[in-house]
Amino acid sequence: MKTRYKVAVVGATGMVGQRFLTLLEGHPLFEPVALLASGRSAGKRYPDAVDGRWALSSPIPAYAREMRVLDAERDAASLMGKADFVFCAVNLPKEETKALEERYARLELPVVSNNSANRGVPDVPMIIPELNPEHLAVIPFQRKRLGTGRGFIAVKSNCSLQSYVPLLHPLRKFGLKKVAVCTYQAISGAGKTFSAMPEILDNIIPYIGGEEEKSEREPLKIWGSVKNGKIAEADAPFITAQCLRVPVSDGHTAAVFVSFEQKPSREEILAEWEAFEGEPQRLGLPSAPKRPIRYFEEADRPQPKLDRDLEGGMAISAGRLREDRVFDWRFIGLSHNTLRGAAGGAVLLAELLAAKGYFD
Ligand code: NAP
Repeated sequence: MKTRYKVAVVGATGMVGQRFLTLLEGHPLFEPVALLASGRSAGKRYPDAVDGRWALSSPIPAYAREMRVLDAERDAASLMGKADFVFCAVNLPKEETKALEERYARLELPVVSNNSANRGVPDVPMIIPELNPEHLAVIPFQRKRLGTGRGFIAVKSNCSLQSYVPLLHPLRKFGLKKVAVCTYQAISGAGKTFSAMPEILDNIIPYIGGEEEKSEREPLKIWGSVKNGKIAEADAPFITAQCLRVPVSDGHTAAVFVSFEQKPSREEILAEWEAFEGEPQRLGLPSAPKRPIRYFEEADRPQPKLDRDLEGGMAISAGRLREDRVFDWRFIGLSHNTLRGAAGGAVLLAELLAAKGYFD
């Protein structure tokens, strides 16, 4: 493992890209060397490219103020030898995103992606670092398929999952049978601020394209197992999801109902959440929350406004655990969608990949 890795951000001007830039400021392992976006931004100085759409309360990092945005397609090859890997978060049709990510991988630039385009590919690991780091074992098989020596694609899961899958994960030992989840998702998840999405004020939009399918399907890949160089999806639990866009700036909330093969007690569930940790905590990765799950006893928590920034937006909050009349248990989960659910989750994944030698 090297002590420093050079990284480029593809989609640097977007909502997730902006988070990447702030997380990379002063990062102990990763040094941003290039920022890329569409032809609309290419050639501009970064502050000019995001003029009027910088969405974060913290200022544009000093290093980025001096950088000129490159064209993600035209200038891709110029990164060879300059960057050790890329973060990718672009708003493009699925096939174009897939082609763009494969292009970078074939240029021998590993891609750590926030996009959904490659999530369904069986030899592309979809990682929540505390949950399924063992899925990185498919990377050599993917490299073979792509014909690369070091290039590969690793993805993180959809942001909505982060508010309930990490809470269900330590309970798998009791046999997860059925899960119903309703997510209440922030507007930054659509790349929006309130000024760019006035229709959400005093409103709820009961549809987020493709989100329910991802919320039901992606957990089964996360809980799948590696067989013959591919990830075979788990066949349980049965998950049903409804996803709503709500007038919250950041932080996705999930109302979860769950039934088990062997119903655990309240004490057993709370003990599993309290004790839960994974590879990032054991390895002491820089972005790993010290306590990945925090349970609130207060009846009115967790709340996005109060709790989304827990441990730098990387911890998952839970609350309102109680018995259910239809399922065994119900509870509320919350996670920060552009931190743990997007850029922060990808930075943590990159730290894991670095620690395991995948960028060397
Ligand atoms: P966004 O704010 O709309 O930003 C999109 C980015 O894509 C911009 O940098 C844009 O550059 C770039 N782009 C558009 N067309 C391009 C092209 N032809 N070539 C290269 N770059 C191009 O979107 P976002 O919310 O950041 O989301 C980005 C990705 O992350 C999406 O796949 C999304 O599903 C995923 N994601 C988002 C969240 C979230 O909470 N927001 C969470 C998890 C995953 P210009 O500025 O030059 O147009």
